[in-house]
Amino acid sequence: MNGLGLALVAAFGVILAIVAPPCLRLRRRRRLLASPLPAALGAGLRQTRAWQRLPAALRPQLEGRVRVFLAEQSFVGCGGLEVDAAMRMEIASQACLLLLGSRVAYDELRAILVYAEPFVVPRHDEEDGVVTEYEEEVSGETWDTSRIILAWSDVANADEYCNPVLHEFAHHLDHLEGTLSAHPALMAAYRQLQAAVDAGDEPPIDPDALQNLAEFAAYATEVFFEAPQALLSFSAPLNRALIEYYGVDPARW
Ligand SMILES: [Zn+2]
Repeated sequence: MNGLGLALVAAFGVILAIVAPPCLRLRRRRRLLASPLPAALGAGLRQTRAWQRLPAALRPQLEGRVRVFLAEQSFVGCGGLEVDAAMRMEIASQACLLLLGSRVAYDELRAILVYAEPFVVPRHDEEDGVVTEYEEEVSGETWDTSRIILAWSDVANADEYCNPVLHEFAHHLDHLEGTLSAHPALMAAYRQLQAAVDAGDEPPIDPDALQNLAEFAAYATEVFFEAPQALLSFSAPLNRALIEYYGVDPARW
């Protein structure tokens, strides 16, 4: 083989190395999406809050996404916690609610780390040149694009006021895509929340959302899925923006 031939073979090899893994992944996902969960896992999915509140038409889509999620993600118990099948299913089913529109999987995510209880993380704030170091107890954290950390006790007790799975997975998508927190409707609703809090009202979105627009997007996502009528009453434009982003309309479920 001459020099040109060797160069072509090498170039083909490089192209194959780049293209083949995503192709294989897509093929594997298509296969998983098209087949139901094994019976025991399917029974587990039907016990979850996510499944029980979904309209029948959306349940097969949730099942397919959960199947891909469980095949692709690692669950790591922290501090001695053993993450059992029911815990994995509860986290997967809630996380996959955010995918029901146009998304199929969490491409960048690799692992979900689970603590039994809320955990402490170091914080570092800087304002006007003054640095403040402190610790904060949290029920979830998105460390980077490949790992999400959750406190099982708060996942298990999720309700219309707090859902750490929806919150952290919303952060994850927003980190990667950057479009939700940049939506003009969110900025307007952020100001509306600030005004409501200043007026002493009790808006449906947690005032902690007023840290920044990324936090606002994550808190608004919790209310969008957990208390959709309350969110719709608070701000129809915000509700429309979230319908557009997630491709579903929980207020109609
Ligand atoms: Zn957050």
